Amino acid sequence: QKADNPYAGAKVYVNPEWSANAAAEPGGSRISNQPTGVWLDRTAAINGVNGGMGLRAHLDEALRQKGSGELVVQFVIYNLPGRDCAALASNGELGPTEIDRYKTEYIDPIAAILSDPKYAGLRIVTTVEIDSLPNLVTNVAGRPTETANCNVMKENGNYIKGVGYALNKLGAIPNVYNYVDAGHHGWLGWDSNFGPSAELFKTAATAEGSTVANVHGFIVNTANYSALKEDHFKVTDSVNGTSVRTSKWIDWNQYVDELSYAQAMRDKLVSIGFDSKIGMLIDTSRNGWGGTARPTGPGALTSVDTYVNGGRFDRRINPGNWCNQSGAGLGERPQAAPAAGIDAYVWMKPPGESDGASKEIPNDEGKGFDRMCDPTYTGNVRNGNSMSGALPDAPLAGKWFSAQFQELMRNAHPAL
Ligand code: BGC
Repeated sequence: QKADNPYAGAKVYVNPEWSANAAAEPGGSRISNQPTGVWLDRTAAINGVNGGMGLRAHLDEALRQKGSGELVVQFVIYNLPGRDCAALASNGELGPTEIDRYKTEYIDPIAAILSDPKYAGLRIVTTVEIDSLPNLVTNVAGRPTETANCNVMKENGNYIKGVGYALNKLGAIPNVYNYVDAGHHGWLGWDSNFGPSAELFKTAATAEGSTVANVHGFIVNTANYSALKEDHFKVTDSVNGTSVRTSKWIDWNQYVDELSYAQAMRDKLVSIGFDSKIGMLIDTSRNGWGGTARPTGPGALTSVDTYVNGGRFDRRINPGNWCNQSGAGLGERPQAAPAAGIDAYVWMKPPGESDGASKEIPNDEGKGFDRMCDPTYTGNVRNGNSMSGALPDAPLAGKWFSAQFQELMRNAHPAL
């Protein structure tokens, strides 16, 4: 019998490796005891990369942290064939056709370890395959945003098969809680994306022998920067009789922040057949947008653009920007059951870990150079041909990025 909300009444695992990086930074001890996600971002991560902790080491440490109470430990399942099909920064180790390796070398060993009776007392949260299904909705043929690699992954079905297989294998373990990635409002909030995404999540959840019962919930805003709640405007507002949905920033989206998006997506998913008790997670690790640039009131009522731009917390140049965003801050601290339909605010992306390198860096992890991580890049159709807004001098995706960590602390909201 799984808990309705695994986070309720439970501590959440603090990753000692992230914690040590945070604590080594000036001022970092203010947050180094916060729980963050553990990313299984390649097959070698199961046994530990370069002498680092593997899956069993994390689970053993989780048992130690648990003591006699309840404890949630959060893993990110992130190794699909042809991973990160609309970008280059987190391309993975498996080629587009390597679905069998994904199953036998990655998911099966993870499932074998998680089902060890030794770990039966832990509440194990698995967030499944960040960005993959959303890419199959928006970045495929028929859309101006299509990419060749996403077309391949849609045609060969290997994202769907991989997600279905992972959900089925992991969901069969009594103390594992699967949460599927559901993008964020600035990606899937438009009518043309919202319903089709929900349907695609169902297709994946019922692929490879899986059923919707293997899905405990969904996670939004993973490793993204969308604000939790915009206080100074609502999507239903108008300025001089003109809807704010016509503003350049909102651009006809139906949602302006993650809380409203997550709650609406939850309702939609239940309406198409997911369990009425599913819960949402929101990654608030880097969506605080505090500091001196944070607006303290609504924008001027001159036009929809002055009103929205003057009031918005999210200071990105364009909501399609995703790499090491300049000006970002830590968001809400991780907490259980913060709002209706929301199981928890989580820090799934460990703050201080890069989204991608700002220039080409040779590596053996399959990580490419994406110009969205280059501060001089003038953009493409997926970010409205805007500047990337990325911080300079970033290391490879996943590597410690001290300057970003310091800025995230400076701009934390709530402040540290
Ligand atoms: C990277 C992973 C990393 C994760 C967490 C992703 O963008 O591709 O290697 O583990 O971020 O920082």
